[in-house]
Amino acid sequence: MPDPRDSAAPHGALPHVFAPIRIGGLELPHRVVMGSMHLGLEGAPDAGERLAAFYRERALGGAGLIVTGGWAVSADAAADGSYGVLATAERERAVGGPDDATLRALEAIAGSTAGTEAAIALQLFHAGRYALTDSPGEVVAPSAVASRVSRVEPRALGEEEVWDGVAEFARGAVLAKDLGFAAVEVMGSEGYLVDQFLSPVTNLRDDEWGGDAERRMRFGIEVASAIREAVGAGFPVLFRMTGAELMPESRPWEEVEEFARALVAAGVDALNIGVGWHESAVPTVQGAVPAGAFLPWAAALKDAVDAPVIAGNRVNKLEDAEAILSAGEVDLVSMSRPFLADPQIIERGKGRAAINVCISCDQACIDRSLVGGHVSCLVNPRSGYEVDFPIPEPASERSQKSADSAAKCERSSGGVGGGRRFVVVGGGPAGLEAARALAALGGEVHLYEAREELGGQFRWARLVPGKEDYGATISYFESELQRLGVHVHLDRELGEDDADLIADCAGVVLATGVHPRTVDIPGSSLPHVVDYATAFESGLDDAKSVAIVGGGGIGVDLAHLLTHTPSDVRDFYGRFHLQPPVEPKLRIEPPSLHSKGLSNGARVTVMRRSGRIGSGIGRTTRWVWLDALKHAGVETRTGLSYRRITPEGVEIELEDGTVEAIAAERVVIAAGQERRDELRPLLERLEVPHRVIGGAENPTELNAVRAFGDGLRAAYELAAA
Ligand code: SF4
Repeated sequence: MPDPRDSAAPHGALPHVFAPIRIGGLELPHRVVMGSMHLGLEGAPDAGERLAAFYRERALGGAGLIVTGGWAVSADAAADGSYGVLATAERERAVGGPDDATLRALEAIAGSTAGTEAAIALQLFHAGRYALTDSPGEVVAPSAVASRVSRVEPRALGEEEVWDGVAEFARGAVLAKDLGFAAVEVMGSEGYLVDQFLSPVTNLRDDEWGGDAERRMRFGIEVASAIREAVGAGFPVLFRMTGAELMPESRPWEEVEEFARALVAAGVDALNIGVGWHESAVPTVQGAVPAGAFLPWAAALKDAVDAPVIAGNRVNKLEDAEAILSAGEVDLVSMSRPFLADPQIIERGKGRAAINVCISCDQACIDRSLVGGHVSCLVNPRSGYEVDFPIPEPASERSQKSADSAAKCERSSGGVGGGRRFVVVGGGPAGLEAARALAALGGEVHLYEAREELGGQFRWARLVPGKEDYGATISYFESELQRLGVHVHLDRELGEDDADLIADCAGVVLATGVHPRTVDIPGSSLPHVVDYATAFESGLDDAKSVAIVGGGGIGVDLAHLLTHTPSDVRDFYGRFHLQPPVEPKLRIEPPSLHSKGLSNGARVTVMRRSGRIGSGIGRTTRWVWLDALKHAGVETRTGLSYRRITPEGVEIELEDGTVEAIAAERVVIAAGQERRDELRPLLERLEVPHRVIGGAENPTELNAVRAFGDGLRAAYELAAA
């Protein structure tokens, strides 16, 4: 496998991705834009240290154009307290530059790409009515129309105040140029202020800023014109505009096209096409959305304007970007979350090395961003925490460790992990990340997995339609562990007899996960009753009716698997009543994995004693999974007790005392799990430094974000001990 850091590695397999392109005066080495992501660090009092480290790592990893998260053009523009503000906050109107700390942060970010091929653009942002109550300013909007996002009724801006808003964007652009940013991007999509002016639903004005299509468009066009005039010719200006609002009473397509043309006429160098307002009831980025589903909206705009058009939304693989670009659909592809998952995605793509693929789970990124949290990534918990978990040296420069040292536990010096020997027990998410990080830190790592395959519960998740990319995570770690010289021992369960193997090690990570919890419901030992692990592993003999006892994430996953086929873009359009402006040219198929004995089309009932079905699933994805189950006719029951399991199904008693028989050929118990930590006493007795992580430590809420994060932390702690 070619090393991605080897600049001579071939990348002929992705010729359209790696074709240079120009945006305004900016020459870009390839056609993947690292799209804007609010990391929740923009307002942090660290002088931009974390943000600069985050962007620098992506620049070194081959990113071309990087767009920062949104920076509020005024205090009123901030969505919440985690935003950085480009204008002084103590003001009647934003007339001054940012405070000193913000200025230092911006300088550090602007300088983060120095010495690389990357260019960094500052995104200029105004939340308008999407601002939350803890934002540093006032919630303002074109009209006093509250949103489902914030539920705060905004104050309608006065006519002169709208001009102030235009000036704030221009002032932010000048500041960006003066500080050395390579470009600016106006955040004009996803339902933020520009969109709020454009839409007749949120712009109820009848003055120079609203009343008809031309006046509703005026704010965005004036912003573009003012920026161009302020920064002069040659400084690249990108505009992120909405291709499809996905809102009731959306604007007609002709207005979208007209706005795009007007922006280019006003001096915008490239259009980055966003899709969907934050309060839209149509999913746009979740795993259940077919890859590339929203491409036709961007493709139609490419035909409408004479400027580069950038498309994004559910493009998470370079191969998909290559297909999109080679079909001539758009000029560039924007990827955001994939750069969280793998900062080296571009360099790895050049070398065709395995990439840590974004699995579109949203759990550590968008779910956190929406509540002003510190954004990271489920499959790459270093993301956003580069300063806390520094990489001491490029792993590729170290010699690989000899396999025959497995029987000996020798300590040696050097590096953080220092050639010392570590044992990781368990090859699920927590163990995989621990092994990877320990090896990257220079340790000699031996990973023991009782099964014949790595991946833990990700092996099951990848079977679920919409979660196929979980399989790519396993492939990435298999490849990465091999590259880092980790000794992987499959089908090898460690026990008391293995004391010699671990006694002298520098550290042990116990990541043996969980096993399904047994229940004491009468009838639970009947032959047609299985636990969820058995259901995923061995199937359900294609049962036509299945009752699932337990409505957490695993129960929902299983129900989805039993009722869905891989998502199809036509079905998706039909289900959400979407009409693309042009026929989709491209169909991106999800990877397929056959699940044996789990026929989709089964009649499924999901039950839970109390609480909400699917609680624990992330905020931005839970509604999508539950909506899909409802659409597929899955019955859900909650607020009940289980009377007994019979050969015909499950007898439940509802809170009002009603007894109901749920008919089912097969019954699956998915009612929680218990830790597997049998090795813990041995580790304590041997007094070997160790960490017990993931489900082995806390089985109550299986949480892959915590599992990966535990793995990373355990590795750094043991390596430093
Ligand atoms: Fe992608 Fe999930 Fe990571 Fe977000 S948390 S970047 S969706 S893998």
